[in-house]
Amino acid sequence: MKGEETSKICNMCGKTFDIWDNQENFSFDHCIGYGSTHDLHRIKIDLCCQCFDKVVDWILPQCKHNPMSEYPTNGK
Ligand SMILES: [Zn+2]
Repeated sequence: MKGEETSKICNMCGKTFDIWDNQENFSFDHCIGYGSTHDLHRIKIDLCCQCFDKVVDWILPQCKHNPMSEYPTNGK
């Protein structure tokens, strides 16, 4: 089985990534500049599928512009 060479851990729930989590590999890595109350920090978040869903379920209702769209099934 592949995909186990690096075992990431979900920042939110502490779970070790399984094969599905590794496949989705939802991560966010950003150095925060001025304009944020967290300026001059770096945030690096890895989320498992379940926690990613929680974050999306939390964010979506607050969005004026829907960031979600259908999975592109045709074209590139
Ligand atoms: Zn998690």
